[in-house]
Amino acid sequence: MNKIKYWLLATAMVFAFGACSEDDEPNPNVTVINMDNGEQNDFDKYLEKTFVDTYNINFIYKWEDVESDMQYALVPAKVENSIKMANLIKYLCLDAYEEVAPEGFLKKYFPKMFMMVGSGGYRNNGTMVLGTAEGGLKITLYLINELDVTDVQRLYSHYFRTIFHEFSHILHQTKDYTTDFDKISATDYVGGSWNDAWKDEGDETIKQDERWSKGFISDYASKETNEDFVELIAHYITNTPESWEAKLVTAGDTGRPILEQKITIVKSYMKDVWKIDMDALRAAIQTRAEKLDEQDLDNISIN
Ligand SMILES: [Zn+2]
Repeated sequence: MNKIKYWLLATAMVFAFGACSEDDEPNPNVTVINMDNGEQNDFDKYLEKTFVDTYNINFIYKWEDVESDMQYALVPAKVENSIKMANLIKYLCLDAYEEVAPEGFLKKYFPKMFMMVGSGGYRNNGTMVLGTAEGGLKITLYLINELDVTDVQRLYSHYFRTIFHEFSHILHQTKDYTTDFDKISATDYVGGSWNDAWKDEGDETIKQDERWSKGFISDYASKETNEDFVELIAHYITNTPESWEAKLVTAGDTGRPILEQKITIVKSYMKDVWKIDMDALRAAIQTRAEKLDEQDLDNISIN
């Protein structure tokens, strides 16, 4: 398989979320397992203080602890990259929500486990997954060994939209959104064929244009209502007002009003149910992203 085709496939799989299933109702109040299997190193101590004590989040990076998915050939995550990712999750995600969310919100609802994997999850057919989640509680992030902290867009596409996506599943599974949302694109969802439905051949963009005109923010959003709902959240907060507007322009005269109708419902839901202003959350994330290069992502000091 040539390199370009491989990359397209890999990109197409970004939102595959191998085990993103709604079958298991998450219990946001579940307590994480004890992560102390022996001697704690400095990073373990940092994780315990920053993630376990504060949020009840278990951050798994050691290979012996990895509950790996055996259908993939996986490579362990480098510790130095796991440290950077832990700091990134705190800085770009947890601290951003803290700025705008009610007290105790994250500890109660945020996913309870992160697992770091160095490589991509390569499947037998040459495709790969970049993130998986189980019942919204455990999120596996792949390609940690190819972490590039200087490329914010890549951080969003490879890791953070997965996190925001899965977290949002927990929210709507805890308290559902209005069925008015389901009606907007009801006849346009494509179910399991989302990965093929909008694939263009060669230089053409006919299928992608069609997907935009139907008001889907991503290919995966066209799967069904819940995926549409959480994809909208994940994309909205990882775009600046300008880049979001550019997407609406791309969606055109037909797609734009559909996207606007849906995002209005999403915003009302987040505000009414969770007391979170989506524009404030987006601003918090975007402001942080702009200052990312000033952050010491290697810091594991607990003082
Ligand atoms: Zn999902």
